[in-house]
Amino acid sequence: MDKNILAAIIGLDKAIAFCSVKKLNFAFQALNRHKFMLSCHQFALHQADHNPILQSNYRPANHHPEIEEHMNNQNAPLSAVIVPVTPLQQNCCLIWCTKTMKAAIIDPGGDIPNILQAIKETGVIPEKIVLTHGHIDHAGGAAALKEELGLDIIGPHEDDLFLLESLADTGAQYGIHDARNCTSDQWLNEGDVLRVGEVNFDILHCPGHSPGSVVFVNKEIKLAIVGDVLFAGSIGRSDLPRGNHEQLINSIKDKLLPLEDDVTFVCGHGPTSTIGQERASNPFLQGV
Ligand SMILES: [Zn+2]
Ligand SMILES: [Zn+2]
Repeated sequence: MDKNILAAIIGLDKAIAFCSVKKLNFAFQALNRHKFMLSCHQFALHQADHNPILQSNYRPANHHPEIEEHMNNQNAPLSAVIVPVTPLQQNCCLIWCTKTMKAAIIDPGGDIPNILQAIKETGVIPEKIVLTHGHIDHAGGAAALKEELGLDIIGPHEDDLFLLESLADTGAQYGIHDARNCTSDQWLNEGDVLRVGEVNFDILHCPGHSPGSVVFVNKEIKLAIVGDVLFAGSIGRSDLPRGNHEQLINSIKDKLLPLEDDVTFVCGHGPTSTIGQERASNPFLQGV
């Protein structure tokens, strides 16, 4: 596997997660917020200093002054917290239906104790583990979490099986010794629905970053969880095994850009953004 897989991400910003959520009918909640911000900040500095791939691809995100406003809408049907995991600070996303408190853990790449702590602090009932794609920073901890909580792994699309089957090797190669291979209990396909309590997400198959990447969209809540397909100011890499740039652009153009401007998306790394913001200013999407 490409040794750059551990640097698969662009667009990291210290202002992770708590942005662009004003006026939306879902809520982000903060856990250990100061600690969280500090670790993100330190990682951003580390990347700029030591990671030429990230540095060369880096596009600073727009300013998000609302980062200082803690959003906590008690009437929202869905709540979420983001737990940055692995040295790549992947946005593991814990989302839950506020009516039932049933939760999905999306992309538990590693740092399982932190994810378990978030589950404990929020008091949610974990229902399923969900994967956007098979890269190690997203799926490396799925087997351990499955074992710990006795949950099924849902997604990604079956075309990422080859990645899930090589997680341990990939991890060993890069010093992530607790990564384990896994498989899915339920592969996802275009048109499928992911249920989290009483909240449903449509499944969009968006190959290009990896062949089995999927995106979760709820048009009423106006929230998408996009993995590494699209970032604030950037797009996913397509030079990793079985990646394809043209396919990635087509996935974004055909499946994500048709979403409404005010759909906020959580990406695998870095700050959230909106479809409208990226349509207007993402340098990779101009003229597509
Ligand atoms: Zn990835
Ligand atoms: Zn990633």
